[in-house]
Amino acid sequence: MKIVIDEELCTGCGLCEDSCPKVFKVGEDGVAHVIIENLEDCKNLEEVAEDCPMAAIIINK
Ligand code: SF4
Repeated sequence: MKIVIDEELCTGCGLCEDSCPKVFKVGEDGVAHVIIENLEDCKNLEEVAEDCPMAAIIINK
């Protein structure tokens, strides 16, 4: 499984980082980044992706 952030869509709102701070971080460039690949640390990853207001989190299974 791999997560991709669509940087064109992301507004840097920080919702994903609030939900899974070990996986997502909003950088100084104003968009979210996937900071680790151990996705086990985020139990509700699909929910976080669904909750993204811009639908910028893409989960490739
Ligand atoms: S929730 Fe979506 S729009 Fe907000 S920072 Fe995360 S990826 Fe970007």
